[in-house]
Amino acid sequence: MQISQLQQTTHTQYCQLSAKVSFENQQQAHQVYFRVPLAFSHHIRLCFEPFLFSLLPIALVKQEQHLHIEGALCPDSLANATSILKLFQLWYQHPHLPKITAQSYQVQQPTSTKAGLFLSGGVDSMASFCRSVQTYPADHPRRFAHAFFVYGMDLGDPNKPDARKTYQQTVHALTQFLQPYGCTLVPVTTNVRQLYGHWRFYADYHFGPLMAGIAHALSAKTSEFTIALDNQIQNYVPRGSHPLLNKYFSSSFLTSQGLLEAYTRLEKYAFFEGVPDAIGYLRVCHSPPTNSQYTNCGQCEKCVRTKLELLVNGYLEQGTNFADQAITVQHLQQIQLSNILELEYYQAIETALTAQQYDELAKIIRAKLTKAWRLRFKHKLLQWDQRHLDHRLLKTKNKLLAWLKPSKKSETLLESIDNISGKG
Ligand SMILES: [Zn+2]
Repeated sequence: MQISQLQQTTHTQYCQLSAKVSFENQQQAHQVYFRVPLAFSHHIRLCFEPFLFSLLPIALVKQEQHLHIEGALCPDSLANATSILKLFQLWYQHPHLPKITAQSYQVQQPTSTKAGLFLSGGVDSMASFCRSVQTYPADHPRRFAHAFFVYGMDLGDPNKPDARKTYQQTVHALTQFLQPYGCTLVPVTTNVRQLYGHWRFYADYHFGPLMAGIAHALSAKTSEFTIALDNQIQNYVPRGSHPLLNKYFSSSFLTSQGLLEAYTRLEKYAFFEGVPDAIGYLRVCHSPPTNSQYTNCGQCEKCVRTKLELLVNGYLEQGTNFADQAITVQHLQQIQLSNILELEYYQAIETALTAQQYDELAKIIRAKLTKAWRLRFKHKLLQWDQRHLDHRLLKTKNKLLAWLKPSKKSETLLESIDNISGKG
């Protein structure tokens, strides 16, 4: 992979940082960009790091021999990118790593003392923002002054329908929410995922390094950034955003910070106490309703789980951004635990529901948790299959299923792993 022709250009409605990306065995080159509305053009820093971090995992899985930067690179970025590759090698057993080189190496100065965070509107990032408001005085450098909201990650996912309306709705709502706290929402669009769009890859490798790239693209006004982690540190499995991985998202001019993995899910809700209006702005749904004032359907697994958490924390009435705000037995019965990282959340919910005597709801969750061992076993087996047999067990299972049920479209290799350990 070669990354060249770095440029910052201004257009009628947006400002763009772009570079040319060429693969070793492809004639066609690609133009990769990070784009902000004109009013935010002063956030863009002209540097190669956005492309290094966000394209590194793609170079790895496409088995590129080299990743060469036709320009200057920060030596800290080079060291950290090398560690990222080695961590992925440790996790996923890659026999070969691309060698990272650049035309020259030079450190850059931070040009700001402000902190930023990625704010999707989900519970983790909103709790991280509220913690910052509760913890630091307004003039403290750790207090979040900028919030990055991205089109081209879960919204703008190449595997999902266009969600620009939800994006615009959320930009408008979060801008309004953040303004009284002295925090500016910076909307940003990127096409990086168009180069390698499979969401299994996104979950296992890409979403953290992609955020590291975006943060570097916007680092003219930010010196440190935070990615809010979902789980507690002891429950993590290898994935694209992980406490061990995210520490390597730093350079000489931008530092990656993370604190949220210290807290349980319910402890995170305690951060909303100081900023209770945040609850009305939550956006958790991966299948947002179309043509609706709401950005959460209220019925999918993630919406129902969030409503349960709001219920046990006494916030359900404030959760006004759900098309369906009720919690019914039918909602809970439809839930399928499919991701081992969800177990931590449901265990906490079950304990809280029991303590608060929501016995009927607690009983349904408890019954689902008794089958948790199956998820853990499948996850271990699939990891072992991936590491030692190059997915041969899974491929054989899929072939058998296709033979037994030829009318039913068999799962692809990657889709079946999604169901076991995917990003929720
Ligand atoms: Zn939903």
